[in-house]
Amino acid sequence: MSLIKATNIKKNYRVGEIDVPALKGIDFEIEKSAFVAIVGPSGSGKSTMLNLIGCLDHPTSGKLLVHDTEVSKLSRNEAAAFRGEHLGFVFQDFNLVPVLTAYENVEYPLLMVRGWAESKRRERVMKILEAVGMADQAHKRPDQLSGGQKQRVAVARALVGEPKLVLADEPTANLDHDTAYRILNLMKQMRDESGTTFVFSTHDPKIMGEAEVTFILEDGVLSRQGAQQ
Ligand code: ADP
Ligand code: ADP
Repeated sequence: MSLIKATNIKKNYRVGEIDVPALKGIDFEIEKSAFVAIVGPSGSGKSTMLNLIGCLDHPTSGKLLVHDTEVSKLSRNEAAAFRGEHLGFVFQDFNLVPVLTAYENVEYPLLMVRGWAESKRRERVMKILEAVGMADQAHKRPDQLSGGQKQRVAVARALVGEPKLVLADEPTANLDHDTAYRILNLMKQMRDESGTTFVFSTHDPKIMGEAEVTFILEDGVLSRQGAQQ
C-alpha cells in the first residue's frame, strides 16, 4: 500500500495578475519505507512538491493522500496537527528558532507536540545530536553555528520524534562529503529499523546514488526512474 498517492496535482502561484504554473498535473505514488530522491533543475518544482506533501501549502487542484488522509483538504490547524503527528521536515533554509539553542530547537517537537517528560526528552535529544555529530555544540544558538552545523541540527529536529515520513529539501547541500554520508547513513538506519519513509529534493549525486526511487522534475512535469510502481 502506498504511503503517498498523488493524482493530477497542479500548483499555480499567483503573481500579480499572472498564474505561474509550478506543477502541471503530476501523478505519483510513494511506498512506505521508500528512500526517494526528487531531482531536477532549479525552478522545476521540487520545493513545491515537498511543500505540498508536507501540508505546508495546498495544491491548486488534484488529490493528494498521505497516510490515508486527503491532505489537500485539511484546514490550517488540521494540517499543523497532521504534521506534528506524522511528519518531519528539513527546510532548505533550516527554519531554526534563533533564540533557542541547538538542544532546545531539537527538543521542541518532543516538548510541544509529543509532550514527553524531561528525562525522556533529554535522553532522546542527546542521542540524536550525538548521531548527527552536534552533541558538543548543543548549547549554541543558530547564529553561532556554521551552515553545515545548522543543517545537522535541522536534520536532528526532523528525526527526533521518529515521524513516519521525513521530507527534506536539499538536506546535504551544506555538508562536506563525510558528514553528508554520516547523515545519509543515519537516515538509512532509521528507515531500516523503524520503516520511516524519506523523500528528498537534491542536486547531490551522493543522495541520487543512495535513492531507490528517483523522480525527475522538469518544468513542473514529473517522470520516474527506478523500481516499478
Ligand atoms: P530552490 O530553487 O533551491 O528551491 P528557490 O530560490 O527557487 O530555491 O526558492 C526559494 C524559496 O523562494 C522557496 O520557498 C520558494 O517557494 C520561494 N520562491 C521561489 N520563486 C519565487 C517567486 N518567483 N516569487 C516568490 N517566491 C518564490
Ligand atoms: P525548485 O525547488 O525545483 O527550485 P520551486 O518549487 O521552488 O522549484 O519553484 C517552481 C516554480 O514556481 C519556479 O518557477 C518558481 O519561481 C515558482 N515559485 C515557487 N514558489 C513561488 C512563490 N511562492 N510565488 C511565486 N512563484 C513561486
